[in-house]
Amino acid sequence: MAAMKHLQLQIQGIVQGVGFRPFVHRIAYLCALKGNVVNDGQGVTIHIQGDPKAIERFLMLLQDPPALSHIESIQMKELPLKEYDSFFILESEQGKRNTLISPDIAPCEDCLKEMNDPKDRRYRYPFINCTNCGPRYTIIQDIPYDRKYTTMHALTMCDACAEEYQTLTDRRYHAQPNACAVCGPRLLLYPHTEDDPLFAAIQALKDGRIAAIKGVGGIHLACDAFQTAAIQRLRDRKKREKKPFAVMVRDIQTAKTMVQLSKAEEALLTGKERPIVLCRKKDKNSFMAISENQEIGIVLPYSPLHVLVMQSMKAIILTSANNSEDPMVIDNAQAVRELAAIADVCLLHDRPIENRCDDSLLRCFHEKPYFVRRSRGYVPLPLTLKDPCTDLLALGAHQKGSFALGKSHHVFLSPYIGNLENYKSMQHYLHALDTYQRFFDIYPKQVICDLHPDYTTTQYAKSMKLPILQVQHHYAHMASCMAEHQLMGPVFGIIWDGSGYGEDHTIWGSECLVGDLYGYHRVGSMHPLALIGGERAIHEIGRIAVALCVEAERNHSVYSAELQTCYEDLCRKEHGCVKASSMGRLFDGIYALISGCLMQDYDGQAPVLLESMAEEREEGQYPLFFYVKEEVRFFDWRRMIQAILDDLDHLIDKAIIAARFMNTLCLMAAEQCMKLNTEHLPVVLSGGCFLNQWLLSKVVSLLQQNGYRVYWHQQTSCNDEGIALGQLAIAAQRK
Ligand code: ZN
Ligand code: ZN
Ligand code: FE
Repeated sequence: MAAMKHLQLQIQGIVQGVGFRPFVHRIAYLCALKGNVVNDGQGVTIHIQGDPKAIERFLMLLQDPPALSHIESIQMKELPLKEYDSFFILESEQGKRNTLISPDIAPCEDCLKEMNDPKDRRYRYPFINCTNCGPRYTIIQDIPYDRKYTTMHALTMCDACAEEYQTLTDRRYHAQPNACAVCGPRLLLYPHTEDDPLFAAIQALKDGRIAAIKGVGGIHLACDAFQTAAIQRLRDRKKREKKPFAVMVRDIQTAKTMVQLSKAEEALLTGKERPIVLCRKKDKNSFMAISENQEIGIVLPYSPLHVLVMQSMKAIILTSANNSEDPMVIDNAQAVRELAAIADVCLLHDRPIENRCDDSLLRCFHEKPYFVRRSRGYVPLPLTLKDPCTDLLALGAHQKGSFALGKSHHVFLSPYIGNLENYKSMQHYLHALDTYQRFFDIYPKQVICDLHPDYTTTQYAKSMKLPILQVQHHYAHMASCMAEHQLMGPVFGIIWDGSGYGEDHTIWGSECLVGDLYGYHRVGSMHPLALIGGERAIHEIGRIAVALCVEAERNHSVYSAELQTCYEDLCRKEHGCVKASSMGRLFDGIYALISGCLMQDYDGQAPVLLESMAEEREEGQYPLFFYVKEEVRFFDWRRMIQAILDDLDHLIDKAIIAARFMNTLCLMAAEQCMKLNTEHLPVVLSGGCFLNQWLLSKVVSLLQQNGYRVYWHQQTSCNDEGIALGQLAIAAQRK
């Protein structure tokens, strides 16, 4: 027999909370090795001692770790021989923190089988989980990931659960949230009745009532998706008039009765992350009470409790429980207090949610995930940058608040937080920031924020007493798409969004930029439009329509005579008007012109409805004009407005006009690129307007046809949620 060897392996990556130590224990046992394994702040450390051949075999088996884990690096060191009796899992120790945390994972097949088996001791138990599935980020209070640092610390495992937890060959060996009906979390119902809480909540849903249901990262409001009256009641009570709701369906078959599904969409829906996926309705005009546009956000049950509810319901509306702009409610007492006027019953449980996490929202583009909102199922996994970005903190933008913390090459992007004008959202933002700093042991030495002086994040940055880097909004959008693809530049950026503060102190929002992570030039833009009454025009989009007509020197009545004259006057005299080269606002104004709808109910309503109404087969376009001013090439939309008004006068179908308008923009993007990017630099597309699939797909294909390499977002959102990543990438490069 060859001489024995003693090795120490330090493993980094996602190795905590994913059954990694039990896995190591099992393979050490198979290879007859002695030693130990421990979770530490760095990841996992293994000591193995034994026959070199057996160690070799162990290292081979280590290449095939549990499904949820991800090994990023292994450092190996040979040590002097030691006395070991056998192989142990040691108690975790608190060291320097350098570990990743798993997102929350949908119930696995094994757990579902048990939950549906009348002979199993966890039959219909709503908190079943194992090392391959269950809650993670949302229940973790501190690291290392051990039960005592989760919201389940107060619950002691019963003998049967403890036995599983300690048995090497068990699926629940060292599963921290392990629980059963005897010892684990329980369902609670408010107002309290003698009935079984689950049964009572389902009964309420069937009766068309509204139920609050505590999920994984927060509490939702639910009602039967097939009862229009119930949906209307929910809209009335939540004061949410038109904004589309997401629908949780029992299974893929039920989804297919409502929406068209591609293979990629089906894979995304059934994946372990279980996001909400925006899917095309089978019939554009169906389910209008759920969604007034051509898509519905579909999600499959992502916790055992949801699975149990959906065994009795085919489809339910699921919307975050909160008062309009506030963050989602996560606390039982708060739910009972604040949702009393909205929910008829609250189906809650006694496993607290530590970290709020909204549902992720995606769609598929070119068969790949395209993020609208990156949250549950994805956070807090990091993205990877080409450059190290240690100790950098990027605070993001404002409307779709998010932050990013850097450590080595990792960027930890926050979950979705929401509009930071709202005090409670800002509290949530600061709480999540504090949590991330603790979890990942990052204490920033530099802070990066937007150029906008009025953003809450800018003001917060200035209060931090750290060196500040302010980054222009659209440049940060461009950098965020570059960072995802590890492009160092130079690139040509086409960045279209609602608004961002420009270097010239005006509002930008339809920009062509050339640059790399060190700097950029603004080479293209759009003729600015006037927002009559500033911010108010964002809601009252009829005002933008008036301004477009005035600027195009056309008489066209949007309002009744008196109001029309008043707005025209304000516009001509530039009284209380803000000028913006904003693509988002152009969409708003055009939608108001062609639909006659003068108010916007929620952010992004007009552009989405315009996209939905457009006739896909229409290939026509409007005239394209440009002018150059101070070396910036501006798209001049005034001729386009005249042509649209002509079409309206000739009673051309609105679906055709909408299509021609978007086609014009796509061709405009291509024209700008061909004129301004003669070197054929790679093109990156970013900004919230690229959530519009018509724009995205046509701009991509037009540019590709002209020989350009085109990049779009695949790991973060193209809207302001992605800004923090771009800010961080720029600062990392300049370190
Ligand atoms: Zn499981
Ligand atoms: Zn138990
Ligand atoms: Fe933006």
